Amino acid sequence: MSDVCIFCKIIAREIPATVVYEDDLSIAFLDITPLFPGHVLLAPKAHAQTLTDLPTASVGPLFENAQKLTRAVQKAMDAPGSFIGINNRISQSVPHLHIHIVPRRLKDGLRGFFWPKNPYSNPEHMKETADKIRAAL
Ligand code: AMP
Ligand code: ZN
Repeated sequence: MSDVCIFCKIIAREIPATVVYEDDLSIAFLDITPLFPGHVLLAPKAHAQTLTDLPTASVGPLFENAQKLTRAVQKAMDAPGSFIGINNRISQSVPHLHIHIVPRRLKDGLRGFFWPKNPYSNPEHMKETADKIRAAL
């Protein structure tokens, strides 16, 4: 646990949150400023800042819980779809890993990925990029 981490404090029940699910590994609670009602944050109980910091053994169980919560959020909010996302350091305002589970419906205003697109300059650039990723695995 981190003394300064707001999500660690939620896990320790030192500050309040609207908890919807909890097990030995993780906790899920309502985002305090939701994109839409039903927006849930799922976080591991052991402090880890990003997905790459999470022990590998916890990845599968955490994502099983993400799947369970995605089903529950979609059902509870009567939403036909959802957005599942993680900010890793960049755009991450709370430095404790959390998976956003956001109910989605058609014409809800989010319009999928609305970020700028940065295409490859040519097929060679695309191939080199794939080679770099394969070499890093
Ligand atoms: P991110 O920007 O990906 O790190 O997301 C952090 C999320 O945590 C934001 O959507 C905030 O609204 C949410 N958040 C911050 N503080 C709290 C809190 N005390 N309880 C519930 N959600 C929170
Ligand atoms: Zn923490």
